[in-house]
Amino acid sequence: WQRLSQGMKRTSSSLSDSVTGLFTKRKLDHATLEELEDALVRADLGVATAMRITEAVSAGRYDKEIAPDEVRAILAQEVEKTLAGVALPLVIDRSTKPYVILMVGVNGAGKTTTIGKLSQKFRQQGLSVMLAAGDTFRAAAIEQLKVWGERVGAPVIARPQGSDAAGLAFDALVEAKAAGTDVLIIDTAGRLQNKAGLMAELEKVVRVLKKGDPAMPHATLLVLDATVGQNALSQVELFQKIAGVTGLVMTKLDGTARGGILVALAAKFGLPVHFIGVGEGVEDLEPFAARDFARAIAG
Ligand code: GDP
Repeated sequence: WQRLSQGMKRTSSSLSDSVTGLFTKRKLDHATLEELEDALVRADLGVATAMRITEAVSAGRYDKEIAPDEVRAILAQEVEKTLAGVALPLVIDRSTKPYVILMVGVNGAGKTTTIGKLSQKFRQQGLSVMLAAGDTFRAAAIEQLKVWGERVGAPVIARPQGSDAAGLAFDALVEAKAAGTDVLIIDTAGRLQNKAGLMAELEKVVRVLKKGDPAMPHATLLVLDATVGQNALSQVELFQKIAGVTGLVMTKLDGTARGGILVALAAKFGLPVHFIGVGEGVEDLEPFAARDFARAIAG
């Protein structure tokens, strides 16, 4: 909670300042409500949520004075309501070996780092982990995954740059099965510059996995960078279409002013949010908790 509220400072302080400025010794009227709604939209919470919060603030208080703290409390409450349904843990079925997790997201979102952090968590839970370096397009991505694998004690299945990603995923699946591995995490490419190529490649990876077992991949996690703000919405749409996303991980919530985007995502898509990234270190991945996040946003 400490790290989260610290990391969310930039998101919360601009919102909190707006609330203080708007409601100090001022009556709640049409103008203040409109300004509040604007401030909430600017904080990336989304128009629908901004309207809902504004309505909740105004209910029964029109033409009266309202303390900034009271507004912040209502804000936290409404944000928590929006997030409550999506704050869901990632449950690994230990009887399914391997439990296959496909990681998707655009380059730079924090996929590789998140794979490392997740592996660490699973290892701490006593699960064996294998990694597949499925971003075969970028040599650096393959190398980086190997470094993470070494650090967290997870073997990495890799092929030379330019190899077929689906073939690699299939080989990794065979190896994980043979080794009795609990969790197989498959990295994928995320080069948005070539959407058609990306789509074809991801679809092929999914198809190959499903040939092994229609239930695979058991989870498809989309990694989103909080700092891209509203762009996250179109990334969800794209990857949902290509890969059928089952859950989200939002990274870089430390130090961004755009953490409110998580609320807009929850309201729009209702996809489970499993984890949030709050730093570059191996332990900087937190299970997503609606109340903590709501409190951190409201300041
Ligand atoms: P990928 O291209 O999606 O695999 O992205 P990477 O995992 O290589 O991450 C891109 C950059 O973002 C790296 O410098 C990471 O250290 C950094 N990064 C990833 N997650 C977080 C996070 O939660 N917070 C911060 N501050 N940086 C992060």
